[in-house]
Amino acid sequence: MIYMDNAATTKMRPEVVRAMLPYMGNRYGNPSGIYTFSKNVHQDVANARKKLADTINAQPEEIYFTSGGTESDNWALKMAAAEHPGGHIVTTAIEHHAILKSCEYLQEQGIEVSYVRPDRDGMVHVGDLEHAVKKNTFMVSVMAANNEIGTIQPIAEIGQMARQRKILFHTDAVQAYTNIGMDVDLMDIDMLSVSGHKINGPKGIGFLYIRSGCLKTPFINGGGQEMGMRAGTENVAGIIGLSKAAELAMNNMQARTGREIYMRNYMANRILNEIDDVKLNGHNQQRLPNNMNFSFYGADGATLIVMLDKQGICASAGSACSSASASASHVLKAIGLPDDLAHSTVRFTINEEITRQEIDYAIACLKQNVWDLRAMSEDYRNHGGYGSL
Ligand code: PLP
Repeated sequence: MIYMDNAATTKMRPEVVRAMLPYMGNRYGNPSGIYTFSKNVHQDVANARKKLADTINAQPEEIYFTSGGTESDNWALKMAAAEHPGGHIVTTAIEHHAILKSCEYLQEQGIEVSYVRPDRDGMVHVGDLEHAVKKNTFMVSVMAANNEIGTIQPIAEIGQMARQRKILFHTDAVQAYTNIGMDVDLMDIDMLSVSGHKINGPKGIGFLYIRSGCLKTPFINGGGQEMGMRAGTENVAGIIGLSKAAELAMNNMQARTGREIYMRNYMANRILNEIDDVKLNGHNQQRLPNNMNFSFYGADGATLIVMLDKQGICASAGSACSSASASASHVLKAIGLPDDLAHSTVRFTINEEITRQEIDYAIACLKQNVWDLRAMSEDYRNHGGYGSL
């Protein structure tokens, strides 16, 4: 199998599995207990929290463990809204559904939301966000990097704009966290969402960073866990795995992303040079190291995914969450892609372990599949190509 869907999820590293195992075995104490057996586990969770805080230049007491990116996003938006009834949120049209659906819910509760559109490369402009700010705006939420087209946003500039206006700034850093590095002080970030399974860690764990004093309302009521803000016995194995995954990813960020960029460019250049009528979606430079998103005019994206699957290659026809639905991705629509191109889109997200041989095989399959689908497409044949891509 050649796995090219690392934006959907990643493989846990063996070191992560090894770090977690004791907590699924003999080290099973409840961190809330007051005897030594539990206190030791409590200390392990505290150490993990500190390590994770260090990765974004935060304090340990500003890190709240959650079940992942979706929960972190829901928490940030819904609790900030609870503290600002009748207020206004500025976000973008290309956020993950965890943000967009939370915003829809909040609109039903009387919160106003503005969805700023990116440009054709998927870049969000600070001036556009600033323009959308109103008197009652209490929050700006912009993802650090997009999960579909990989575009990296100017987070520090956005943070500065929000800080100057005394507006909370939340960023969904699920895709960006270990790829570009996040610093909550340098970037004026008040809240930041992270997910474990996107960084070679476990599924069902993540954290929300909340700058001290920015939110006071508990998200889940019950016991006193997570400083009283999110009750429920901790997912200890997950927490340990998340912190190990983050440590490993941060330690080799430069080498890993450097290799990914090299292999990504090799693959992207070959596809663009060797297949006609292909469009690379997203920004050329401001892009996640492992992301490629192509529209193959005249070839249906979902069919390409099925063909690639039969050839042992895992890729995605949009974001994993929306690939089950037939409607074109909201991100591709927001960057102005016409419906036919949006429906002929495939996302490849590689990892640093990919080999040139695997890439060459994937390209050979892709070329043949695109050719076969186009041969069957009357529309494509009549068009005689699509020179303007
Ligand atoms: N935000 C972004 C940008 C994502 O890519 C994802 C996952 O696809 C999520 C949030 C949701 O994260 P999780 O799967 O941990 O709930």
